[in-house]
Amino acid sequence: MTTVYNFSAGPAVLPKAVLEQAQAELLNYNGTDMSVMELSHRSSSFVDIIERAEQQLRDLMHIPDHYKVLFLQGGATQQFSMVPANLAKGQKIQYVNTGSWATKAIKAAQVLEDVSVEEIASSKADGYTSVPDFAAEAVDPEAAYLHITTNETIGGVTFHEIPNFDGVTLVADMSSNILANDYNVEDFGLIYAGAQKNLGPSGVTIVIVREDLLKEDTSLPDFFSYATQADKGSMINTPPTFAIYMVGLVLEWVAAQGGQEAMYKHAKERANLLYDYIDQSDLFVNNVKVENRSYTNIPFLTNDPGLDKKFIAEADAAGFKQLKGHRSVGGMRASLYNAFPLEGVKALVEFMKAFEEENK
Ligand SMILES: *Cc1c(COP(=O)(O)O)cnc(C)c1O
Repeated sequence: MTTVYNFSAGPAVLPKAVLEQAQAELLNYNGTDMSVMELSHRSSSFVDIIERAEQQLRDLMHIPDHYKVLFLQGGATQQFSMVPANLAKGQKIQYVNTGSWATKAIKAAQVLEDVSVEEIASSKADGYTSVPDFAAEAVDPEAAYLHITTNETIGGVTFHEIPNFDGVTLVADMSSNILANDYNVEDFGLIYAGAQKNLGPSGVTIVIVREDLLKEDTSLPDFFSYATQADKGSMINTPPTFAIYMVGLVLEWVAAQGGQEAMYKHAKERANLLYDYIDQSDLFVNNVKVENRSYTNIPFLTNDPGLDKKFIAEADAAGFKQLKGHRSVGGMRASLYNAFPLEGVKALVEFMKAFEEENK
């Protein structure tokens, strides 16, 4: 069988060791003779799972005690509405628009009646191939917060430096580069991330929120209130128990690999290997401004849609799976999240070289 490398943007590749552990424990979790899927979320076994997952994330991201960690449902998409509803009622929100996901976040906030939305910068004019410049004066300390998408999963654009303004609360959609960066949690008021890119399977969303931003708001349904979710330990209702268990296993694996610092180092190594080849290639290009290039999602194309299609088909047959670019941009995209092995990038580069040789 050919070796398969999975370049999916999400749900994405998981560490093999984690899948093997889940398999080994599937029918009998920790001597219970029951699967994790069959355990009550109120059982001591599951409470131990969620508490350990939280502690592991705190250790890996160096999350201070005055931040809450929540395990919610609804994906990052639900957070597009939940953050404004909780943090910005009657106030203004500012956004930096770096691409598809930021645009979705903006649209979701615009439908809320009691918040006002201001886009302070956008890279739409360059096809979302950069982080737009914006003047410090454009940032309003009176706004509830400034929202950024730290990594645009479709465009492959990243904030390698986090903008920092005195007295301005920063909210970040970190779905596609959480734990694959060198950010400092204390630079943010709130961070959210769907698990299915860097942290585990789909079904659970991590929210890290500074305690002073939690307000009791009786006009919000409990389920949508961070304050209530925090108060109830993310268990207002039945949480996605198996997904949380899997996130816990992935986080243990990350710790064993050397933690966030090692993940960040590996992410740079993987990405640079691919960018170095693309930049000297006469066939493949990546159009993102060099200093904003993502380490986790690398779009590339040949500038010939027919050739892109051929590449994707031949790559697929050779074991390089899910390399098709997002339908909104076409071309190819290699998503290289934490669990993606370096050998897979080396093999892809060799494959691309051979393809270039044959098709130039
Ligand atoms: C995948 C993704 C989302 C959407 O996540 P869901 O869990 O599917 O709602 C939002 N933002 C970014 C940056 C993403 O990569």
